[in-house]
Amino acid sequence: MSTVYQHPDGHSVDFTDNTLTVQSSEGACVAIPMGVGGLRELANDFAESENGNCPECGHAGQILNVGREHYGVCHEHKVFWHIGSNLFSGWQDEKPTEWYENKALLSTYRHVEGSKK
Ligand SMILES: [Zn+2]
Repeated sequence: MSTVYQHPDGHSVDFTDNTLTVQSSEGACVAIPMGVGGLRELANDFAESENGNCPECGHAGQILNVGREHYGVCHEHKVFWHIGSNLFSGWQDEKPTEWYENKALLSTYRHVEGSKK
């Protein structure tokens, strides 16, 4: 099974043999049939809407973390928007020095409201 999403609190989403399996940290589990194309579509939809988009060009941008806070960033338009906190587990693998660098970069960009499609 390959894990596509791991929440810091232990919930996980796995994808294998065209089946998407969602498991809570308490062990409750649901499996639904889904092809790779469907999974990609789902990921694209979320990336482009739920996380917000650059209000200038509508692109999902790059995700940067400052500690447990996630930001969407458009380097072309030098803007950033807040996505949320502790939604992706990746931040835990990063070093504080990376967050300082991200924070320094964001301080040179304009803080905007991410647009939802
Ligand atoms: Zn942009």
